[in-house]
Amino acid sequence: MNTVGGRDRAGAVLRDKTGSYEDLLAWSVLAGIIDRRRAGGLARLAARDSAEAAKVLERAIRLREALYRIFKCVVEAWRPPEADADVLHSELAIARSHQRLAAHGDRFGWIFLERPDALDRILWPVPLSAAELLTSGDLPRLGQCRGGDCGWMFLDTSRNHRRQWCDMQDCGNRAKVKKFREKQRAI
Ligand SMILES: [Zn+2]
Repeated sequence: MNTVGGRDRAGAVLRDKTGSYEDLLAWSVLAGIIDRRRAGGLARLAARDSAEAAKVLERAIRLREALYRIFKCVVEAWRPPEADADVLHSELAIARSHQRLAAHGDRFGWIFLERPDALDRILWPVPLSAAELLTSGDLPRLGQCRGGDCGWMFLDTSRNHRRQWCDMQDCGNRAKVKKFREKQRAI
């Protein structure tokens, strides 16, 4: 699930799809964070409190950019900037403060408190998922698409771990076409 069209080589966002709190809401529905009914409630709330909605949007973008750099550091094996780790930690602290342990069958699981009035509730699962990935054994499988102006991250679940593209239909095909054209030109 992506909120940007792509990134150039320096990591700058191209075709940002998150220009408003409503865009963020639409993304959270697509990502399965919230259902349409609750998203409708938050949209009405955001319309009444645009200052708070703008703050949440700002936090979302700050978190997205911090996570992008942190995961890029993982892929390229260098240390993430302290400031980005700080952003992740502060969002983690907020998200965790809204969690409770609840009995679920024969064990306990984490749930979020039902807070229909919290505009930032759509952010809460994001730092938690990021932390889960950062501490999981799957982390070495994290990769970044080699497509030009793409920069999307993916988890390589292929058997030989040699995935290069975010999507074979998209960047993979474009790269193939480019290679083919270059070959044609060389003949
Ligand atoms: Zn790609």
